[in-house]
Amino acid sequence: MGKRILIKRITTAIFVLALAVLPTGAFLSAHTHSYVLSNAVESYYARDATTHRGVLTHYMVCKTCGHTEKFEIAERYDTHKFGGGVYNGVNQHIGTQHRVQYKKTCTLCGFSVTEWGDPYPCPGNGNCIVVNSMTPAER
Ligand SMILES: [Zn+2]
Ligand SMILES: [Zn+2]
Ligand SMILES: [Zn+2]
Repeated sequence: MGKRILIKRITTAIFVLALAVLPTGAFLSAHTHSYVLSNAVESYYARDATTHRGVLTHYMVCKTCGHTEKFEIAERYDTHKFGGGVYNGVNQHIGTQHRVQYKKTCTLCGFSVTEWGDPYPCPGNGNCIVVNSMTPAER
């Protein structure tokens, strides 16, 4: 008889333990995440030939459960920020002048355009002046 009572007590103890564990699990899945900032990232996406869309994204992590979530907290539209331009190898002789083409790339979104530089005097006839290190004239 004594042995049987001991088994019943152990079974009861396990049952109580299970009850004690359950509410904790329920709390973890039902709590309201309390986020702290983990990382802030600015991204830029080309929109058209003149503008791009800038998005500020905050990556948040919950202090309680470690869940991460990203929030787009701000966006704005700006004109591209083109660098000085790089000679792209395309050039052309017209009459007594020569001109070269440049590729300009937005330093933020990567959108690029090609445009002709200002023409300059050139002798032509096989003596064209084209320099690889040409930079666009100031505008
Ligand atoms: Zn959480
Ligand atoms: Zn851009
Ligand atoms: Zn030329």
